Amino acid sequence: HPIVEARDVVLSFGETPALRGADISAAPGEILAVMGPSGSGKSTLLHCLAGILLPASGEIRFDGRRVDTMNETQRSTLRRDRFGFVFQFGQLVPELTAEENVALPLLLGGARRPAALTKARSWFERLGLGGLEHRRSGELSGGQAQRVALARSLVTAPEVLFADEPTGSLDSLTGEQVMDLLVTTAREQGTTVILVTHEPRVAAYADREVIVRDGRVNAYVPEGVGP
Ligand code: ADP
Ligand code: ADP
Repeated sequence: HPIVEARDVVLSFGETPALRGADISAAPGEILAVMGPSGSGKSTLLHCLAGILLPASGEIRFDGRRVDTMNETQRSTLRRDRFGFVFQFGQLVPELTAEENVALPLLLGGARRPAALTKARSWFERLGLGGLEHRRSGELSGGQAQRVALARSLVTAPEVLFADEPTGSLDSLTGEQVMDLLVTTAREQGTTVILVTHEPRVAAYADREVIVRDGRVNAYVPEGVGP
């Protein structure tokens, strides 16, 4: 069965409809790109799948279990232990070193500091960040910061990685390096990836693409295919 799934999800912000009956699902290990114009509901859909926002109606499932009927404690445990998150920017704690940022999810999960830092450090060579362990994250370049954010999102070995415009603040070459690392590590770990992007070059890294329009999800049909 799918690892993440939304069925007929409806959600509004006040009078503004964001999702109007959205359906989506991803298979275990699948890298799924969620495309669509600005304001179409991509981020809202990702937040619903991740148990951050609750829909007005419809169902959200993770590994077959209903997420939308869980209480806040159950959903925050799910987010902490099973999910990873990368966003466009602003996600590192600037006063902490790079390795402390990566260790943070382990510390929040109850790991001891030396063990958390050792595990955090093991990610640095792998993501081309060797030597930057003790750098304050406020002093990293955009591409370095986004790779540190990627390490932080993967250090707990999440089953699902939710990535919302992960290359949105980067130039295209740096963005491609980040996507290469994201896809390579996700495949190594068997992590399912829900990748929100409006950039076709970023979506090209996915196994499959869907398009969100006006709060509903459509399959992507390449040009020249069909009747
Ligand atoms: P996308 O990610 O495709 O750009 P969003 O999911 O962010 O779209 O937004 C969908 C719609 O919901 C838009 O009309 C947006 O302005 C609105 N919206 C999103 N978040 C909020 C919010 N916190 N408060 C009010 N309106 C919001
Ligand atoms: P994206 O296209 O990635 O959703 P946005 O700049 O549209 O980026 O939205 C960034 C965040 O701001 C969203 O996650 C959403 O929660 C919030 N947001 C979006 N639109 C509104 C809005 N009209 N009012 C308040 N918050 C909003």
